[in-house]
Amino acid sequence: MVVVEDDRNIADLLDLYLRTGGFRVLQASDAERGLDLVEREKPCCVLLDIGLPGSMDGLEACKELRRRSDVPVILVTARDEEIDRILGLELGADDYVTKPFSPRELVARVRAVLRRTEPSRKGTEEAIHIGELHVDPLRREVRSGDETVQLTAREFDLLTHFVENKGIVRTRQQLLDAVWGPGWFGDERTVDVHVRQLRRKLGDALPLATVWGVGYRCG
Ligand code: CA
Repeated sequence: MVVVEDDRNIADLLDLYLRTGGFRVLQASDAERGLDLVEREKPCCVLLDIGLPGSMDGLEACKELRRRSDVPVILVTARDEEIDRILGLELGADDYVTKPFSPRELVARVRAVLRRTEPSRKGTEEAIHIGELHVDPLRREVRSGDETVQLTAREFDLLTHFVENKGIVRTRQQLLDAVWGPGWFGDERTVDVHVRQLRRKLGDALPLATVWGVGYRCG
């Protein structure tokens, strides 16, 4: 994805959060460079700061992006009060985040936007590698080193959720909601049972930590 942000510190923070969330990130420090980058790289999503230097600010850039493509755009604003004004402009942005944002909120927003806009993009989902572990969401294939590992559908979904949320602690309830669905009223121990199976099948290739009293964290 492309991050357009002139403040170096914020850009690096966004970069870190998004990489941790499993995204490949390209940075641009002004609107013109951002638009070029989007045209060249066809990213899955654009994070666009509103206050940009030069002749084109983030709002102008958003309008321009809309004219050129249907890439999802998330606006980044420094102030809550701006949001109403931004929405009133009907720029065609898919969402917005307000500084300061938490890593989890940011990644969740991006994922939500990608899910909403997914049908046209599903085919670009990339395989995820963490150390020895290789997870391919499209082929539903898991390898530990060179060895293919057979997982049940639920184990696969749980593993994919873990690696897509690398570095983020997930509670058992969040895992149930995400993998079993919010309508599933099972026991939280169901998660533990599936985690045990994943650990048994993947061994040391699975970098999954138990966070006592909370849940699990991958990576
Ligand atoms: Ca700025």
